[in-house]
Amino acid sequence: MPQSDWPKTFSCEFFPPITAEGFAKLQAARQELLVMHPAYFSVTYGAGGSTRDRTVEVVLDIQANSGVPATPHLTCIASTRSSVRELLNYYKAHGIRRIVALRGDMPSGMRDPGEFRYANELVGFIREEFGDHFHLEVAAYPEYHPQASNPEQDLQNFQRKVDAGANSAITQYFYNPDAYFRFIDQCTRRGIDIPIVPGIMPITNFTQLARFSDACGAEIPRWIRKKLESFGDDRDAIRAFGLDAVSALCRTLLDGGAPGLHFYTMNQTGLTLAISERLGLLTAN
Ligand code: FAD
Repeated sequence: MPQSDWPKTFSCEFFPPITAEGFAKLQAARQELLVMHPAYFSVTYGAGGSTRDRTVEVVLDIQANSGVPATPHLTCIASTRSSVRELLNYYKAHGIRRIVALRGDMPSGMRDPGEFRYANELVGFIREEFGDHFHLEVAAYPEYHPQASNPEQDLQNFQRKVDAGANSAITQYFYNPDAYFRFIDQCTRRGIDIPIVPGIMPITNFTQLARFSDACGAEIPRWIRKKLESFGDDRDAIRAFGLDAVSALCRTLLDGGAPGLHFYTMNQTGLTLAISERLGLLTAN
């Protein structure tokens, strides 16, 4: 069915903090975000299991204390079927119903790729072992994954995840809405019929954004890059411009039928809330 017919979901992503102070800040942040009525809070996972304990701790805290379902990310590179099974059984026992199922990237210094090569294998494994217990989210790349041999192959690989049993997808962030709409058209032509929710990265810091974007294959359009460069260290100007640009992007996506938005919050609430307010998503309980 068309993307616009799926119920709209708004969700927020966190990373597991390292310090107790960071953990307390995250607890405060997630409380502040309740006004946008998130469908779930997701928590990233370091490929190779580097954040395993911290991710689990944050997930269980969200699940038990926030009133919003927690959704752990799970990467499969450099892991085994038994370790994945064990973690998922643990999550299941704690009432978790949704997982973001990913391949991840091989951590530097690690050699053994483990028992899964790609995310579609993880999705298939979870379906085999846990039936329909988990709602499975997978990653989608409107501007294509940096390692994809070509766009067609990347789409085909996305389809493998859907065929293996993914229920919905979250995209890598992007600032060009046409890339998303084109990607949706291509998916529709292939018969892919799941909600594909745009991932939204608020803009706070140009240097950091440029570094992330180079690594993950997201394009910063020239007009945005030039404006951000021109602000230098003027954080207020970057914030104000970023708020305008990203709010306009979100408006275009929702008006064009996107089935919700997934905010990469970076554990900060300010811009996610400001954007949500401009979109009219903040309503009293
Ligand atoms: P895949 O879908 O397996 O794709 C990886 C590459 O392999 C692509 O180029 C694809 O075209 C190709 N490919 C896929 N299947 C096949 C196949 N069968 N044969 C040949 N080629 C194939 N990373 C983390 O470490 N932790 C996180 O918590 C995390 N969360 C994320 C959340 C979202 C919403 C997104 C978009 C990304 C996230 N990432 C995270 C980053 C992600 O792990 C990387 O982008 C990673 O490089 C790819 O993961 P994937 O699940 O998309 O892999």
